[in-house]
Amino acid sequence: MSTIDIDKIIAQAERSCRDNGVRLTSKRKQILEVLLHAGAPRSAYEIADLYRQQTTEKIPVMSVYRMLDFLMQNDLVHKLTSNNKFIACAHIACSHSHQIPQFLICDNCQQVREIGVDEQLINALEESIEDNQFHLNSPQLELHGVCKACQQ
Ligand SMILES: [Zn+2]
Ligand SMILES: [Zn+2]
Ligand SMILES: [Zn+2]
Repeated sequence: MSTIDIDKIIAQAERSCRDNGVRLTSKRKQILEVLLHAGAPRSAYEIADLYRQQTTEKIPVMSVYRMLDFLMQNDLVHKLTSNNKFIACAHIACSHSHQIPQFLICDNCQQVREIGVDEQLINALEESIEDNQFHLNSPQLELHGVCKACQQ
């Protein structure tokens, strides 16, 4: 992702935080920038390392987790539960409202694509799961496969 694109996304993230009545502090912004630059999922430890490279400042992993919590609450970052890594939301600069995120994970190159799935489809899935006396904590889906580039 180019620096211009990242600047645009950060500006939009600041706006949406302001609209939500919360503040994207410079540290929170740096963490989001780290993930935007990475363009792929990173663990909290990896984020702490990248943060140090980017800012030449040390940051405790506990603080990284705190800032990730904030970013997740505001749909700026998502957590992939299958590998405990974090990824910047792919729809920050979009004007549409944020959907329940679904992730397509390539098992070959580890690239992750965030797609929004039709709400009706998610509702139907949730219904059939609840029919089996199972309560869903999160409707987020993580689907493993092979991306287009790796299919060639
Ligand atoms: Zn998202
Ligand atoms: Zn979008
Ligand atoms: Zn791939």
